[in-house]
Amino acid sequence: MVTGTAAFDLTGRTALVTGSSQGIGRTLAEGLAHAGATVIVHGRDAAKAARTAEEIAAVSARPVFSAVFDVTDPAAVDAGVTAIEASHGVVDILVNNAGIQRRAPITEFSDEDWDDIVRTNLSSAFYLSRRVSRGMVARGSGKIVQIGSVQSQLARPGIAPYAATKGAIVMLTKGLCADLAPHGIQANAVAPGYFATELTQPLVNDEQFSAWVRGRTPAGRWGDTKDLVGALVFLASSASDFVNGQTIYVDGGMTAVV
Ligand code: NDP
Repeated sequence: MVTGTAAFDLTGRTALVTGSSQGIGRTLAEGLAHAGATVIVHGRDAAKAARTAEEIAAVSARPVFSAVFDVTDPAAVDAGVTAIEASHGVVDILVNNAGIQRRAPITEFSDEDWDDIVRTNLSSAFYLSRRVSRGMVARGSGKIVQIGSVQSQLARPGIAPYAATKGAIVMLTKGLCADLAPHGIQANAVAPGYFATELTQPLVNDEQFSAWVRGRTPAGRWGDTKDLVGALVFLASSASDFVNGQTIYVDGGMTAVV
């Protein structure tokens, strides 16, 4: 067993981070590259994903590639992962990060928005985990990390469907553990608090809400996406080989304190 800081070294591992062309996923992809992994940046916009991959390669001095497919389409996920495996072999580290938000009172929430949220935040994690874990099972090792949310524990007005998907991610993570732990695979989740990204832009721009986040977070501030990297690298590395089915809240203490 590798111990000490060497256990966090990801050299020789291939990592796919969904939705990493921007925001949290981008910072996570960069963190994995700095830890030594060969990273595949992913999104729907090919030019944006390729640009992000180039920028991460430049700062990390690691090979960084890009992949483009819609995570809500199981056939596209199968084809996308098949192409990645053909070029890079079995994916060692899968980070299911792609996600969206829609806000409306429950009485106004449309079927279309509900479907979009469930397919992007939850079904995608199932499609990717199912497809990528086949290679991991055949080889007998692998790391799957879901990106959840404090909204798996804390509801707020206007986001019931989003909270429902993030709550389900906690149980999907435990279910993956049950199925995959016997095959040497660890499935865990990182649940962020509030981080300024495109997804939260309306909240950042709302000074009253932004102040509420600072007040409700024991650390007294919004998260910086770099705050998430340590937990991810831990869960992606052999340092966490006996950690399985868990969700780590990286939220400045928000879910620990009323
Ligand atoms: P962003 O909106 O900044 O980024 C979302 C990313 O997901 C983009 O790269 C986008 O790619 C990709 N994406 C969205 N839909 C699809 C799709 N159908 N197929 C493929 N890629 C897709 O979001 P964040 O970085 O803020 O959020 C990332 C994750 O973190 C989400 O799961 C979110 O729920 C979670 N989270 C975020 C928090 C925050 O405070 N920001 C708090 C808690 C959790 P493209 O632009 O090419 O479509």
